[in-house]
Amino acid sequence: MMNAALGALGMKEWRYQLLPVPPERFAETVRALPAAGFVGANVTIPHKHVAIELADTATEAARAIGAANTLTLAQDGSIAAENTDAPGLLAALAAIGVSPEGMSAQVLGAGGSARAVVWALREAGAREVSVWNRTPERAEALARDLGARAVARPAPAELLVNCTSVGLRQSATEPQGLNPLAVTFDQVGTYSYVVDLVYRTSPTPLLAAAQAQGVRTVDGLEILLAQGALSFELWTGIEPPLDVMRDALRG
Ligand code: NAP
Repeated sequence: MMNAALGALGMKEWRYQLLPVPPERFAETVRALPAAGFVGANVTIPHKHVAIELADTATEAARAIGAANTLTLAQDGSIAAENTDAPGLLAALAAIGVSPEGMSAQVLGAGGSARAVVWALREAGAREVSVWNRTPERAEALARDLGARAVARPAPAELLVNCTSVGLRQSATEPQGLNPLAVTFDQVGTYSYVVDLVYRTSPTPLLAAAQAQGVRTVDGLEILLAQGALSFELWTGIEPPLDVMRDALRG
């Protein structure tokens, strides 16, 4: 995705590449990146928490969420940590003309992405954010940390955001597909907007249920695009070519 964006801007000497790194080599690998010409890195599970500890500076968002997905590497060796998952969600909602300000929201999940989403929704002025999770203790801890409310069953709200990994593999029409999320097909139809962070090219069972009932949706690829575009802008200072990046991602 990033390479297509770099190519479209004529930045042929730039590259975005995958670097699989085991946890025990993470710190030394990141510290060696500036000398190898890297200006930034996106990091994912299992490195998102350690990335903050390793960084010299971290934004308020990254600290509050407790995870960073973007590291900016200065030539003097200093490392700045940012979390673009949170603004990525808000950007993807804004792209369909939706602001969470004053809205009620139901978040499913209590892992790293749920923390980013709850923080983003609270920052954007959501009126009430409820958190449901398969393991209730994790929802309670998240809710306590970030000013949300933990619920035993997904509650009625205007916005529903799936931050679990459920939906990655199930077929969209699988009748049992919604069970792990503790919602029914009819219940999905009661939300005004449904967002699924799981990214795949075909709709997840949750998005398929929402779309079948005329609910407006945002899929995980749009959020991946938005957070990747924000990282791109941080590193290059150039406005990202969103259409080129979207085509590369969906292609
Ligand atoms: P994580 O920290 O590992 O959290 C996983 C969450 O999924 C936990 O709440 C876990 O519940 C729940 N879960 C897993 N299997 C489940 C099941 N069978 N039934 C019910 N709940 C289940 O992962 P994460 O970083 O938050 O990521 C979650 C998903 O979002 C992944 O699919 C990831 O790829 C996606 N994501 C997308 C973007 C994007 O840009 N689109 C960004 C970040 C993440 P327990 O606590 O009970 O285990």
